[in-house]
Amino acid sequence: MHEWSLAERVRCIVLEEASGNALSSIRKVTLEVGALSCVEPGVLQFAIEKNLEDSIAADADIRIRTRMGKLKCYHCGKVFEAEDMYQACAYCNQYGFTIIDGKDMLVTGIEGV
Ligand SMILES: [Zn+2]
Repeated sequence: MHEWSLAERVRCIVLEEASGNALSSIRKVTLEVGALSCVEPGVLQFAIEKNLEDSIAADADIRIRTRMGKLKCYHCGKVFEAEDMYQACAYCNQYGFTIIDGKDMLVTGIEGV
């Protein structure tokens, strides 16, 4: 499961950040997931909660935000924002593009004491 391996990465990032900053308890973790990453936010949230269960981040509030993807049109060369890969160019209405942004996942914030 794709989400499970991402959740394991989140666990590593969170715990490394916590030890680097001498945090003993993590309260909140915020993440951004690209709209084109094929990640199901609900599944990812569950996977992260499970992965953090036995850690200092067991009670952390996990917030996942979806970031719009960016596509570059093959036909007119313009870049447009997209929620998925099944839409036509916002400028020339044709199909076919390269993905510029929106396939990744980022941990954007870790709060703790
Ligand atoms: Zn176009």
